[in-house]
Amino acid sequence: MPETPVDPSTGVVYPVGLRLLDRRVVVVGGGQVAHRRVAGLVEARARVTVVSPEVTPALEALVAPGSVTWLARRYRPGDLDGAWYAVAATDDPEVNAAVAEEAEAARIFCARADDRAASSVWTPAVGRQGDLVVGVHGGGDPQRAVGVRDAVVAGLTDGSIRDRAARPAGGGVRPGSVVLVGGGPGDPGLITVRGQQAVAQADVVVADHLAPQSLLASLPADVEVIDASKLPRGRSMAQEVINALLVERALAGQRVVRLKGGDPFVFGRGMEELEACAAAGVPVEVVPGVTSAIAVPALAGVPVTHRGMTHEFVVVSGHLPPGHPQSLVDWSALGRLRGTVVVLMGVETAGAIAAALVEHGRAPDTPVAVVTDGSTATQRLVRTTLVDLARTIADEGVRPPAVWVVGDVVGLTAAAGTAR
Ligand code: SAH
Repeated sequence: MPETPVDPSTGVVYPVGLRLLDRRVVVVGGGQVAHRRVAGLVEARARVTVVSPEVTPALEALVAPGSVTWLARRYRPGDLDGAWYAVAATDDPEVNAAVAEEAEAARIFCARADDRAASSVWTPAVGRQGDLVVGVHGGGDPQRAVGVRDAVVAGLTDGSIRDRAARPAGGGVRPGSVVLVGGGPGDPGLITVRGQQAVAQADVVVADHLAPQSLLASLPADVEVIDASKLPRGRSMAQEVINALLVERALAGQRVVRLKGGDPFVFGRGMEELEACAAAGVPVEVVPGVTSAIAVPALAGVPVTHRGMTHEFVVVSGHLPPGHPQSLVDWSALGRLRGTVVVLMGVETAGAIAAALVEHGRAPDTPVAVVTDGSTATQRLVRTTLVDLARTIADEGVRPPAVWVVGDVVGLTAAAGTAR
């Protein structure tokens, strides 16, 4: 069959992945394009030399730790000696041409940023998800390549593109694991990328009622969802049941995600689960989450700190009220605090806590914001003062989940308003 003639200025690309670990690579240029290329090369652990009289601050930051050598001068012929790969990324086409010419003569592949037709290498738009790498060539249109790359990465993250190899082939061949994922305050947009990815790759998800429920709804039918809030009652017993469940499933080879509200280590008993897994030899990863302690006030327009006003904040569990023999909170110290006090799990105990804070020195008219159902469609903000808190909670019918915030920062909400 006769071959279709190929336009030498566009050609046909043959995609490969260069394994550059400890191999010499020379980048000529010190601007934004050079910076991006160097960042990728450093990620590939290449031995990078940058040749440029000046570099951007961002590129200098890559040079500083010592993994990149910077020759602070103009390019000279011979600079590519011993290189496996080169990048010509100056803003001077003549210099780029000279670099490309030296590379061609020495049979070093060279990416030339300013002239695609004169380049022996085309750099794809790259996305990474763990050890999975996506590279897209856009037929000369970088925006097109970036758009497709972004769509693939987004699909892998939200699970709409299934990464089959990420799941144990044939059930249990790969050792199981547990990922403790902080799901954020409830809005599925407020989980981290890594958290969402772990959920998308799970065989089983053990979820709390404050975790983002709509993420669970979009999981494929073969992913088992276990509602941890429905496990046998009795506080500590339920935790033991959860710990045992995580360990048992992981030992059976499953990828287990423990999906919790907010951050796993903020009143989330995440450490107990981590310890149980570690004791059983199960690999555990912790994915931090956006904690409701900071995010829920923020969503209602209340900052926990403010320059020139409040330089400290304390997050406290209101589960056990002041005077309770098992309370580990120093309420008198909190009463003397100038800064912000953020109370979680404190709807029932609000009156007792407010009284203790006032007793120990906090002004009775200190503003308080109570935010319920943060980040959900029913989010509500009620403003009051410390002395009126219990009455306001009763009058307004405030129910958990709620975060309440004490301090001058609450006064700032008047101007802020909220988008919800
Ligand atoms: N680990 C979680 C906190 C668990 S304790 C985190 O980091 O956010 C549970 C308490 O968190 C609730 O009683 C409530 O005080 C608070 N909370 C969690 N989600 C909330 C939400 N969406 N709106 C208001 N309060 C919330």
